[in-house]
Amino acid sequence: MELTKQIEKRRTFGIISHPDAGKTTLTEKLLLFGGAIQSAGAVKSNKIKDHARSDWMEIEKQRGISVATSVMGFNYKDKKINILDTPGHQDFAEDTYRTLTAVDSVIMVIDCVKGVEKQTEKLMEVCRMRNTPVICFINKLDREGRDPYELLDEIEEKLSIKVRPLSWPIGMGKSFKGVYNLFDKSLYLFEPSKKKLEETGIAIENIHDSILEEKIGDLDAAGLREDIELVEGVYPEFAVDDYLSGNVAPVFFGSAVNNFGVKELLDTFINIAPPPKSRETEQRIVQPDENKFSGFVFKIHANMDPRHRNRIAFIRVCSGKFERGKNYHHVRLEKNFRFSNATAFLAQDRETIDEAWPGDIIGIYDTGNLKIGDALTEGEKANYKGIPSFSPEIFKEVINQDAMKSKQLSKGLDQLMEEGVAQIFNYEMGNRKVVGTVGALQFEVIQHRLKNEYGATCRFVPINLFKACWVSSNDKKKLDEFIKSKYRHIAHDKDGKLVFMAETKAWLQMVQDNFPEINFHFTSEY
Ligand code: GDP
Repeated sequence: MELTKQIEKRRTFGIISHPDAGKTTLTEKLLLFGGAIQSAGAVKSNKIKDHARSDWMEIEKQRGISVATSVMGFNYKDKKINILDTPGHQDFAEDTYRTLTAVDSVIMVIDCVKGVEKQTEKLMEVCRMRNTPVICFINKLDREGRDPYELLDEIEEKLSIKVRPLSWPIGMGKSFKGVYNLFDKSLYLFEPSKKKLEETGIAIENIHDSILEEKIGDLDAAGLREDIELVEGVYPEFAVDDYLSGNVAPVFFGSAVNNFGVKELLDTFINIAPPPKSRETEQRIVQPDENKFSGFVFKIHANMDPRHRNRIAFIRVCSGKFERGKNYHHVRLEKNFRFSNATAFLAQDRETIDEAWPGDIIGIYDTGNLKIGDALTEGEKANYKGIPSFSPEIFKEVINQDAMKSKQLSKGLDQLMEEGVAQIFNYEMGNRKVVGTVGALQFEVIQHRLKNEYGATCRFVPINLFKACWVSSNDKKKLDEFIKSKYRHIAHDKDGKLVFMAETKAWLQMVQDNFPEINFHFTSEY
């Protein structure tokens, strides 16, 4: 059946890492193998080209960080691969967490010099919560890094996941000679080269074969034999099921910038990585091979192309076949919509598509009907679970700097909030607007985009706030009383929901004690 065939073909995964570990470089090399781009450097230079089109990417360039998640699809062998790239910087972690709800597995890049870094730990927590299968790529072996055993121990310890090396490095830094692949029992010799594409291994079934001496010299041959015996002795045999259940992470060593170890990674990946998996909704579990289409929005991005003011909603197809131009049911609004302009994401471009299958990410141009977490179905009521919402931690008041442009400012703020970049709180009193974010850099992004995309100038003034608390109560009278007594601290979020802005922890505690009939929630979804 077509549907089963298409599902079996697809591999949708995210690449995660701490900034600078080599995620972008690895992505680019993977695309090269897929023939999706022609030369190394294309992803980066594309970023720069993009930047010419979209000014806010200036921030990415200046800071050398990637702000938004991008989606890239390509074919490799008989598989259709969808890579979801994620920003590594912690200030943009919300975007990354949401993206992880749309993938079926993850490749984690670790810098062999730095080992497991903070952001990797956090991201791994999210993977563990969802039992997402993880493959580790230990990168930059051409540099003097840490001892491989030490690195593996650190991964097990800090990331609370068992590891199983599937390749083993021979030397490191200046004396890096290559890797021995324990999975396909081949030796891969390292030649620093940024262009070389073919990586062919030398089959060495028996590690005691003297060909090893011939290829890497007596000393390294002896060392490698020892290592392999140790590795095979210490780590249980690799079982794909342990990887698929998220309990064991296979580990590869390589150097992305030198295109070394990347093809091996990709070949193993398409062998073992899971095809699109089932997804939980509040109502039931949705299987990918169900005939009826369903999917959910995990990201909104406005103004991807400033020449055309538009928003694009990223949808993960979870079941059935998506067809362009067909009517689909918008679960939250309980209305039917027709999307005649769905696009697929390719390495460098977006192209209109007529159909999409489970595991695919489609982009839908939207004028404001879609929000993060929204589900589309063929009529069924399904609310997809696990799309996280966040409790803002930093609050700043928006001060309009250009009275002539207050409309633009409002509109810009509204749209950026819909994207999930930050959250806005409109105070009942005095028309004050406060923006809450998880990371400080978000304010820079917002300010920059307001200026460039909406022509609005604003300033952000820090204010003292401990938490935004969404409030509700079964007792309408008590709620009214509460609002009346706390009038100065009451705001509405972008959806008009009631929020109590608590200035300190102690005060919040006191208010909670004084109003036992009021429920306080720390995220907008409750
Ligand atoms: P990201 O922030 O994780 O996307 O990291 P990038 O891919 O932008 O890489 C960060 C830096 O590390 C860049 O200067 C890369 O050229 C460099 N880099 C990536 N892979 C390797 C590698 O295998 N060896 C060395 N020496 N440098 C690398």
